[in-house]
Amino acid sequence: MRFLLEIWRKNMFNNLTERFESIFKGLKKTGSIDETVLESAMRDIRRALLEADVSLSVAKEFINQVKDQALGQEVLRSITPAQMIIKIVNDELIKILGSESSEINVSGVLPSSFMFTGLQGSGKTTTVAKIGKYLKSKLNKKVMLVSLDVNRPAAFDQLKILADKIEINILPKIENQMPIDIAKRSFEAAKLQDIDFILFDTAGRTNIDENLMKELSLLKNEIKPVETLLVLDSLTGQEAVNVASDFSKNIKLTGSILTRIDGDSRGGAALSMKSITGCPIKFMGVGEQIVDLEVFHPERIANRILGMGDIVSLVEKA
Ligand code: GDP
Repeated sequence: MRFLLEIWRKNMFNNLTERFESIFKGLKKTGSIDETVLESAMRDIRRALLEADVSLSVAKEFINQVKDQALGQEVLRSITPAQMIIKIVNDELIKILGSESSEINVSGVLPSSFMFTGLQGSGKTTTVAKIGKYLKSKLNKKVMLVSLDVNRPAAFDQLKILADKIEINILPKIENQMPIDIAKRSFEAAKLQDIDFILFDTAGRTNIDENLMKELSLLKNEIKPVETLLVLDSLTGQEAVNVASDFSKNIKLTGSILTRIDGDSRGGAALSMKSITGCPIKFMGVGEQIVDLEVFHPERIANRILGMGDIVSLVEKA
């Protein structure tokens, strides 16, 4: 039991959780909360967010929203001012994590396609296989994986090993075929094989460059995916935020996927991503195995960060 508890506690938001705990402990002691007390608590929260690698603009916006609401709301008699603020912070956390539903779009005309983008090493290929397995096992869909990475000779082989492991089709390789032609061929193959979803693994680069963006835009026009997903390594923190910002300026994304949530990242990428890309985080990668994938639920993550679900529901009832 203690072991399980430790795993639960050891998540990437640990430091942030501890900081929030101590800020709220201070507030609870204060009793009545005037503007000076609030101001000082907000300064502490801002510092905690920045230390967790949340981007500056997101941290500022967050604080402004919490302050506005805290000053504008009357405290109900049945709850303390501190409880009220916890509830406001909780709601704002959910908002910046992406309050709307973050489910993937599986309602399009079949065969439907998802395009996965991201830098090399972000966990893109692994994530393609994870989502393939998710669609197959959880949603009962027939899936085909396609590698559009012709730059790295091993890219196809890596995807094939994963496809074989999870017993999912993969579009066979034809030497020297260009990505755009591979994409066309995959739709023909999908129709013949009654495939529901084609998952396209695109080429990455070590850095963002113009050629990569051009190639991805061309491919996106050809594929017309229902989901254009950006895979990001949460361990890279602020760098992941920069990557997300560059990608979303160049191609219209529908969602992002954060990998290596099991590592000891500080959580800033998760908290900044929705504001930076304008689209929700849809999944999290929580390990190297195919099954290590979780749907991203903003409320649950907010609860994990604050660890004060009981107070939040108390205020909701009040
Ligand atoms: P790509 O270059 O973006 O296609 O990245 P890969 O899919 O090849 O992944 C790079 C490495 O990250 C591999 O060793 C994966 O097993 C590992 N990896 C991918 N996702 C996760 C994750 O969520 N957690 C952990 N711990 N490792 C991951």
